[in-house]
Amino acid sequence: MDMLRQSNQPVLRFMADAMLGRLARWLRILGYDTVYEKVIADEVLIERVVRENRWLLTRDGHLAQRKVLRGRHTVIERDDLADQLRQLHQDLKIDLDMNRQRGYRCADCNVALISLSRDDARPLVPPFVAQQYRAFLQCPHCRRAFWPGTHWHDLLGRVTAIREGSMGDRT
Ligand SMILES: [Zn+2]
Repeated sequence: MDMLRQSNQPVLRFMADAMLGRLARWLRILGYDTVYEKVIADEVLIERVVRENRWLLTRDGHLAQRKVLRGRHTVIERDDLADQLRQLHQDLKIDLDMNRQRGYRCADCNVALISLSRDDARPLVPPFVAQQYRAFLQCPHCRRAFWPGTHWHDLLGRVTAIREGSMGDRT
């Protein structure tokens, strides 16, 4: 793991196994490109990890032993989401923060959000939101609009709590 800490290599791209749907959604919210499919055969999963040069996250120690992965994997040790995120923070130095430079991704689609003008956002959000906020983001895939409102701050608060170790998995 030391190599990871020292190098300036690009941000890791992940592939989460079928057991790790919630973790995958959170990694996307944090801006990490994370592929996850609810139903996927092991062979297809491994093939995609190799072809797309992803880092495998798995609960399955046997799967992680595949030679073709050449060590590019992390075996997630616990079921608790906060523990899982903390493990990745420790082992892979993922950033437990929402980072504008890394960008944001749609939790459903794993697609990078793009900025959206207030005029374009207007038909997609409640009127009071369109009045109150200037900056919006949109998922180019599902078209959902996002803004730095209450929900956003809730997410940020949870991530901060997880980073600081003060919160377990309560939801
Ligand atoms: Zn989307």
